[in-house]
Amino acid sequence: MNTVNTVTGTCTPDELGRTLVHEHLMVGFPGWQMDALAAGFRRNDAKARAVDMLQKVQTHGVKTFLDPCPMDLGRDVEFMAECAQASGMRIICTTGGYFEEQGITFTFRNLPVDDIAAIYEKEITDGIGETGIRAGLIKIATGAGTVSEYERKLLTAAARAAKRCDVPLISHTQEGTCGPDQIEIITSEGVPAHRLLVGHSDGSDDAGYHRKIVAGGSYIGFDRLGIEAILPDDVRIKHIASLVNDGHERHVCLSHDSTCNWLGRPILGPGLVIDDPDAAIAEMMPHWTPTHLFERVIPKLRDAGVSDEAITTMTDENPARWFAGSEAP
Ligand SMILES: [Zn+2]
Repeated sequence: MNTVNTVTGTCTPDELGRTLVHEHLMVGFPGWQMDALAAGFRRNDAKARAVDMLQKVQTHGVKTFLDPCPMDLGRDVEFMAECAQASGMRIICTTGGYFEEQGITFTFRNLPVDDIAAIYEKEITDGIGETGIRAGLIKIATGAGTVSEYERKLLTAAARAAKRCDVPLISHTQEGTCGPDQIEIITSEGVPAHRLLVGHSDGSDDAGYHRKIVAGGSYIGFDRLGIEAILPDDVRIKHIASLVNDGHERHVCLSHDSTCNWLGRPILGPGLVIDDPDAAIAEMMPHWTPTHLFERVIPKLRDAGVSDEAITTMTDENPARWFAGSEAP
């Protein structure tokens, strides 16, 4: 693909520059509107906060911010476009659905696979709703351990639409599982493995799992830097350095999966409700911000023997090659 859809227009893959491949301006779990106990959402405050965050990220040379919010997690592409205009950051949004347990499943559970593929295609070629804003790629997602029927249908739909529209795919995986299954499903539909970035692969502490994804030919996301409640960053850094040491730096993409604004209260499980996400994050995971890579992780990667060339490959070159799609990593 020579053209990348952004929320404010198009660009070429070469123009993407330094890219954070997985961050969020805003996230709300399905039904967030029903939680009247949450602090009210103030759009202008949320926008000011997002623009301030994007400007901090820009001081590290980041030119492109990919927000792969699926359709069912409070995606608001007009909000993204307003933030892009106010900050000058290039922002890319996605079409696609979240995994079964945490997404909205009724409509997509009952639609035929090719209707879902046509919906994704429409959001990429015509635009999202009446906004005229076009998705730049497709989000896919799987739960922990096994791919459900529903998830398999959405992955199949995504692969068909990706093939027709010549766009990449970005994934959510849960607990560092099912990355190889995602590769298998999309390649069986004729999409080359190098069109997929297997997200959240840093949820696994198993070097063998990482190598399966690399051997499968896909990009691998170490994209939850700073989420130390899942795994300490030192473990992520060890695995990144090991992949680079083995010559796999052309597969690795780096990001944080940070969330700038919450719609409703984040819910971690039955009864596990976070009343004040800012306070909870500051206390439990103070480094979970989209500048953490540049402030703390890159210096540690250098200490672990990763060269500046390899770092630039991961932060600047891999996202461009993934979007261009013409070349395997
Ligand atoms: Zn995410």
